[in-house]
This record gives sequence, C-alpha cells and structure tokens, in this order.
Amino acid sequence: MTNNDFLLSVEGLTVSFDGFKAVDDLSFYVDPEEIHVIIGPNGAGKTTALDLICGKTRATAGSIRFRSRELTEMKEHQIVHAGVGRKFQNPSIYEDLTVFENLEISYPKGRSVFGALAFKRDAKVRERVAEIAEMIFLADHLSERAEYLSHGQKQWLEIGMLLIQDPELLMLDEPVAGMSVSERVKTAELLHRIIQGRSVIVIEHDMKFVEDIAHKVTVLHQGRVLSEGTMAHVKSDPRVVEVYLGH
Ligand code: ADP
Repeated sequence: MTNNDFLLSVEGLTVSFDGFKAVDDLSFYVDPEEIHVIIGPNGAGKTTALDLICGKTRATAGSIRFRSRELTEMKEHQIVHAGVGRKFQNPSIYEDLTVFENLEISYPKGRSVFGALAFKRDAKVRERVAEIAEMIFLADHLSERAEYLSHGQKQWLEIGMLLIQDPELLMLDEPVAGMSVSERVKTAELLHRIIQGRSVIVIEHDMKFVEDIAHKVTVLHQGRVLSEGTMAHVKSDPRVVEVYLGH
C-alpha cells in the first residue's frame, strides 16, 4: 500500500509546550473503514495528537495528510469542511432541544433556498435525521428533550450530530466513559455501523471495549509510538506490558 491509499497519514508529528515534547516524532496511518484505537497511560500525548489533527493545536513539525490534503496549515473549520469530525469526552448537545432538533441544526446549512426548493430540502433533512436517529438507537426518542436522555444516549446523540455532517474521519475521545455495560455493547455495534464509508480514531482506556472494536491499536508512551498492530499483538508486546504493569 502506498501512503496515498491511507485515509490519514501522520508523519513525524511533533509539538512542544515550553520545550516539553508532548507529541514527539509521531507517525501512524489510518486505513479507509478502519477503527483505529489509540491507547497509552495518562500524559502519553493521546489528546494532544487528536488536537493536532483537528487543528486545535498547531504542530511544531511533521505532516498530517488526509486523503491528498495537508491539514497542518488549515484552520479548525477548514478541517471540519475537509471531512474530519471530533467528539470530545463531554457531550456538547443542546439540552433544551429535542433529539430531532439537535440533529436538524447539525445538518450542513448550504446556501439559502426558497419555495419548492426549500420544501424539498426540508424533506431531505427530515429523511437524513430519521436515518441517523435509527443508527444511533434514538429513533423512538426524536421528540424527547435531550436533557431527559441517559448519559449513553447523550453520547450517541453527539455522535449523530457529527454523522449528519457526513465526515470521512471521526475522532472520539473515550466514547464509553461512564456508560453501562449494555450501552458499551451498543456503542461497539454503532462504531461497526458507522465505518461503512468512513474511519474512526478512538482514544480509549477500557481494554475490553478496545478488544471489541479495534482493527488496529497504536500505543503511545511519552509522545511516541511504543507499539502498534492488532490488539492481540500489542497486548503481548513486552514493552506495552512493562509500561502498563511495570511501575
Ligand atoms: P493523554 O491524553 O495521553 O493523557 P495529553 O495529550 O493530554 O495526554 O498530554 C500529554 C502531555 O502534554 C502531558 O504531560 C500534558 O501535561 C502536556 N500538555 C498537554 N497540553 C498542554 C498544554 N496546552 N500546555 C502544556 N502542556 C500540555
């Protein structure tokens, strides 16, 4: 596979905060339709790596190629437009709006249209909202105010608000934190559904969940790649065992 076949190629990525390298010469690659999980102890640089990809933090060195585009010089909103969606750990949904309204306002606006065209577009938006609601297990909750949803349902709603913008790469920060066991199982199912035509990068601490979802795992330690491959491979890598159990 040449580098151009990857959906995302991160190469030599580095960022320093006051001389401290939080991410240090980091390289990893994400295939199309891949669930790529980043694990590593606290302070390993996982969040900073995602911040660099979505443009929240500027790299000191290195490149981030998404399809054929270089992201390192782009602004956050341009990166979103290029097809990269990011969900942070705490859901940022509108609590006083319904599930339907939360999804509807997240639908890309496009240019203003009137009359028959507007009617047609509204029908299309409703259809897309229904499709996404089905996917995120909220089809029966469309008219419910978001504040009454469970913690897990709120997380799914936020994922739905990203999905309705049709990103090709979705980045999720600890999506199952605080979820019940059954919600975790459904979230794994959701991730397998949403990689049809897109890839997902997940930061996760829950190793059982990682085993359920990961096609590929990158283990970070002190801003660098310590190990990568399948979960079975990284789990048996002595360097990974040392970092997780050796202290
Ligand atoms: P992780 O997500 O793996 O727990 P982070 O990416 O949050 O790790 O942090 C990596 C390291 O970089 C930590 O030592 C953290 O304190 C440091 N760091 C992260 N962001 C900043 C910042 N804006 N300024 C200074 N140091 C930072």
